[in-house]
Amino acid sequence: MSVNYAAGLSPYADKGVCGLPEMFDNPEEMKAKAETLAQLIKESQYLVVHSGAGISTSAGIPDFRGPKGVWTLEEKGESPRFDTTFEDARPSLTHMALLGLQRAGYLKYLISQNVDGLHVRSGFPRDMLSELHGNMFVEECEKCGRQYVREKVIGVMGLKPTGRYCEVVRSRGLRACRGKLISTILDWEDALPDRDLNKADDASRRADLALTLGTSLQIKPSGDLPLLTKRKGGKLAIVNLQPTKHDKHAYLRINGYVDEVMKQVMELLGLDIPKWEGPTVCESCTATSESTTDVKPKVKKDLIKEERKREATALTDGGSVKEEMVSVKRERADSSVELNEEK
Ligand SMILES: [Zn+2]
Repeated sequence: MSVNYAAGLSPYADKGVCGLPEMFDNPEEMKAKAETLAQLIKESQYLVVHSGAGISTSAGIPDFRGPKGVWTLEEKGESPRFDTTFEDARPSLTHMALLGLQRAGYLKYLISQNVDGLHVRSGFPRDMLSELHGNMFVEECEKCGRQYVREKVIGVMGLKPTGRYCEVVRSRGLRACRGKLISTILDWEDALPDRDLNKADDASRRADLALTLGTSLQIKPSGDLPLLTKRKGGKLAIVNLQPTKHDKHAYLRINGYVDEVMKQVMELLGLDIPKWEGPTVCESCTATSESTTDVKPKVKKDLIKEERKREATALTDGGSVKEEMVSVKRERADSSVELNEEK
């Protein structure tokens, strides 16, 4: 199937600021900033990464608001260029570096606006990932909520029925659930998935470092989640070629290709970037790992598990009530965005 998922969405007027010029730090600046970022990651207790379309452009999937982005070109009456299909797309260096950061115990939670499925197909544990706008490869049972990750794209969008039915067998009796399966891809006005949004919200509040990669942070509520981290006393680091909506809140702002930045950061941290060996789905970070070659994760995983348990207890004990629920409605573009407000 073509990667033109945008064509499957309803028409929508306000798509945010598109086509702003890209900026590049010079090599020395980049090196210094990569060192700062590596240091921040090393010192962090709870790193959350927010990813956007910019991390998949090197995989051949166009972004939305870049100079060659889907919406930028749409404004000019042109069509974007697709260098791949979703099924053929390979995770980028950044996708794999994030998996490496997770396995090393640094990355505690990943929040993505991408629908291309590359985080899941890279083997990133699904229980540490929120896909706020859905996934082209995932369909969900309307009745019991069970999700099915498929090898091929689902083919329909906007939470519509896919024509298949749930095969979950109920604990008592042998009758299958038979609920209608629906696409997980949101259309412009659709509400974000509760489970994913709540987990993303919690992780953003708990984080002491929010790193955003390849997103202009214009879509609400996804783009505002990193601000929760800052509000709770954490730091915000932004890597993007174009200006973003929240540049002024950033402790560190890197103008460069995400792959280049992540390559340098992984080197500085002394971490290997895992090799991709075809699409794999990892449901849980505590499940037995496929990669038996790596011994470290075993120990790390137990640590993470314990830590997570502790965190979970802390949360219930504290009874921390959400004082400000993020708007659940997916207000796609914020018309009040003033990207040029900064001199
Ligand atoms: Zn079901």
